Amino acid sequence: MKDCLFCRIAAKEIPSSMVYEDDKIFAFNDINPQAPVHILVIPKEHIPSITDVKDGSILGELYNIINKLAEAKGVKATGFRVIVNHGRDSGQAVPHLHFHLLGGRHLHWPPG
Ligand code: 5GP
Ligand code: ZN
Repeated sequence: MKDCLFCRIAAKEIPSSMVYEDDKIFAFNDINPQAPVHILVIPKEHIPSITDVKDGSILGELYNIINKLAEAKGVKATGFRVIVNHGRDSGQAVPHLHFHLLGGRHLHWPPG
């Protein structure tokens, strides 16, 4: 979608610090990292939010990549958190489905 920030990042129209790409999935470092590892993993297809997923198989594919990235970035052993925000109360700022992969420090629980 031409007006969507993350579609444009996945299409490389807007530069990002890419960490993974295949035909369906793109992953890049968050511009405002909240932990030493803070990667956003997105479907290339424009899906506005988790509630808009029609074919759940993409979720399994995203999680496979999240697991691979967690291992590659060294946080599989130490621990990590995966977050999907939806809607106003969560603070979702970008209306293109994205999974936050956070790790590399102690992550407080419960989250604020
Ligand atoms: P949300 O609050 O929607 O779940 O998360 C959006 C995330 O996207 C935020 O963590 C924010 O820092 C990140 N972000 C926003 N704009 C950009 C950008 O242009 N490039 C990158 N790499 N990350 C972005
Ligand atoms: Zn999009």
